[in-house]
Order: sequence, then C-alpha cells, then structure tokens
Amino acid sequence: MSDIRLRFAPSPTGYLHVGGARTALFNWLLARKLGGTFILRIEDTDVARSTEESVNAILEGMEWLGLDWDEGPFFQSDLFPVYREYVRTLLEQGKAYRCYCSAEELEAKREAALAEGRKPKYDGSCRGLSGEPAGKPFVVRFRAPQEGVTAFDDLVKGPISFNNEELDDLIIQRSDGTPIYNFTVVIDDATMRISTVIRGDDHISNTPRQILLYEALGFPVPRFAHVPMILGSDKSRLSKRHGATSVMAYRDMGYLPEAMINYLVRLGWSHGDDEIFSREELIEKFTVEGIGKSAGVFNPDKLLWLNAHYIKSGDPARLAQLLLPFLLERGVNPADGGPELPPVITTLQERARTMLELADGALFYYRSEVLYDDAAAAKQLTPLQFPLLRAFGEQLATWEEMTPGGIETLFKAFCAAQGIKMGGIGPSVRVALCGVTTSPAIYDVIAVLGRDETLRRLECAVTFIKGKTE
Ligand code: GLU
Repeated sequence: MSDIRLRFAPSPTGYLHVGGARTALFNWLLARKLGGTFILRIEDTDVARSTEESVNAILEGMEWLGLDWDEGPFFQSDLFPVYREYVRTLLEQGKAYRCYCSAEELEAKREAALAEGRKPKYDGSCRGLSGEPAGKPFVVRFRAPQEGVTAFDDLVKGPISFNNEELDDLIIQRSDGTPIYNFTVVIDDATMRISTVIRGDDHISNTPRQILLYEALGFPVPRFAHVPMILGSDKSRLSKRHGATSVMAYRDMGYLPEAMINYLVRLGWSHGDDEIFSREELIEKFTVEGIGKSAGVFNPDKLLWLNAHYIKSGDPARLAQLLLPFLLERGVNPADGGPELPPVITTLQERARTMLELADGALFYYRSEVLYDDAAAAKQLTPLQFPLLRAFGEQLATWEEMTPGGIETLFKAFCAAQGIKMGGIGPSVRVALCGVTTSPAIYDVIAVLGRDETLRRLECAVTFIKGKTE
C-alpha cells in the first residue's frame, strides 16, 4: 500500500446526499487509482442528530454505490477522550485558553460590532486572563495568530490565502466539554495520516483555521482539494426543492448504482468529451487535475439517459437480482412460476429507462390473467380475429422451432397461407399475450412465454371474444 490516505468524513444528517456521495467517490477513486487507503469516518459529534438510523443511511448508500472502505467506519463520538487530551496539551502550552465570556456578553459585543459596522470578532477579553474564576463555565479557545497570512495551494482552486487578522480565536471545546468540528477534523486527519483532504468547497473558509491548528499541534499539513458544490437548475445550491437529493431515493426510483456513479463523477470531473465510464475506466483515468473549478448543475435528464444506457447494456442476470425487490413490491415473485427473469429482462432492457419501467414492463409475463387494455381489446380482439387467432394457435401447437427466429418463420408462413400481412395477425396476438399494444417484439415474447403459456393465453383471448359475441 502506498502512503496515500484519503477519507470521506460525513456528518450523519439522515441520508447520503448526492453531493456527499460525489465527494466520497472522488476520494475512493483516487485511493483505488493510487493503491492508497480509503477511510470512512463518521463525524457524529452532534449527538442529537447522529442516530443509528442516520449513520446506517450513510453506510447503506456507500454500499449501494460500491464505495468500499479500507479502514473504519470510525466514529468521532468514540474519540472524545482523545480530543480532550489534545485540548489539555494546547492549554498547557499556552496555545489555547479558557474563555469565561457568557453567551449574552458575546452576543452583546457582536451586536455592538455590527451596529458600528465592524466585522464581529471575539475581542480576546479572556486571552490574557490570570487568576481564573473558579466554578464558572468556560469554553476553550485556540490562541490564533493575530497577524500574518495563512496560505495553501488548493489542488482544485489554486493558491488561496487568508489574513490571520480576520480569523477569530476559535472555540475548540464547548462549555459542556464537547469538541467542535474544526478541531476534531484536524486531530483525526492528522492521527489518521490523511495525505489529501478532498471535500466540498463549503469548507474553504475552515481550512486556514485548520491549518493553524495543525501547525500549533506540530502536525504535518495535508494537501487540500476543494470541490465545487452541486447546483440545481436555477443555479442555487442543490436542495430538496430541486427534487430528490438522497442517493437511496434514486435507487428507489429505479436507478442503477453504475449510472449514479457515472453521473456523479461527470458532475465535476471530465476526461475529454467522454461521457460513459465503467468503474475500471474511472479508476484508470481519474485525476484530481480533472476536477473542474466551476460548479456542476444537476441534470436529471442526463442521469436518466445514463440509466437507460446501463439498463440497455446491463447483464440480464445482474439486472435480475436488482429487479427482484421491485417485482416483489408489485406482488410478483418469479420463483412462484412463470418464465426465468433474465430472458424476460432481455426482451425489455432495450426500452426501459429505469428499474421501475423494467418492473412494470415485466409484469404481464407473470400475471396468470392477461389484463386487456379496453381500447386495445376493442380493436384487436374482435370476432373478425377469432378464426385467425384460433388458427394461429393450432399452427403453434405443433411448431418445433420456439426461438425468436423460428417464431418469425412461423408468422411468415402463417401470413402467406392466410393471405394476410403481419399487421393482420401480429397486433391481435400481442394483445392476447400482453394485454396492450406496446410490448417487446412479439417473437421474443412468445419465445420467453413458451408454447404452453402462449397457447393458454391465445385460448383465453378466443374465449374472451366468444364472450363478447354471445
Ligand atoms: N463532516 C463534514 C461535513 O459533512 C466534512 C468535513 C470534512 O470533509 O472535512 O460537511
């Protein structure tokens, strides 16, 4: 293993957001490409929001996308004693200090600053405090340098610098003893020896504070790559207003993980004009340099297009596994009878854009009774068709070649013998077998249903017509 170590460090919010998933993907790809280590760390210091369910939602999303981790999941909530120890060290070294200002005092100072048109900033009242008041609650603040510049060379955005003057003496430990994000993230990234931090650019303003903490603690500073946010169609940050933002919601809407991966990677990374990338190609081609500087706009149509592509080109046996839950939800279990699922999928995958469409399209194969669409039945299951359907059934009963090609030959021979065109029999056979006028190619349908089931359905159609005329 190389010493490349990357991490995804989500805070549990109840679901895995597509933006988070993309960050995870970029880290995972780079780790896999460089033979590095990919670490999953759950930033659950906000105990109220960090339910087990919320954590599981992240793990489930990662697993569904196939983003496997080499170390972790580590939980920050397990590491509180470690953070406390580092706070103690900083206090001992005078690099941090206790601040006794109450929330009300701070708020009053903040309002005063705003009223005077100054940028609110902690005024350092407790910086030089000697003889500390016993028993009074306190937070711990980092003694940040007041002058100079903190700079870093972002791998995506280029050189970035902040004047230290603008940075507050950051609170690193709350009055209840719990640590805050900017502190825990530094301890963890340092002790987990993270070499490059790839994360959303909403964290850019945190980075100089974190760099100062690395320096104060004597840790090497990792490299940073800040990835632009994902935007909605109106160019505001992607949120629920724009539609589903949870990765698992896309699974439930019938998207394939490979489509999601391919879509997310292109939303912020490019390799020439290529659009379609297998997982292996991504691992081979991914580079941090390929990450774009500007934000990508989430385009549901493109995701749908990619999904259709992956359904069309997918291995029917694998699609069958993924399709099963959708069929069960619709009350169909292929294990109870009916054709094998993979050949059924082969007849449908050309047209289905989502697994929901695939599932809906597969239903007619498994229903014991064909549900005739009224208009289709009125047009195709008529007394005129009665003798034709019956004659076709008779031919089929002794027909040997039950492949799509063989069935095509049967139709041709039948039409020739009857002196009709394919349009004179095909559509009524289709309605007899599927109930509707749109379906996979009729030769394929018959091959999949098999002779007995096809004959049974033709018989039902003939009985249906008879019923109408009596
Ligand atoms: N836990 C932070 C978040 O979910 C990420 C922190 C980081 O990547 O540094 O936004």
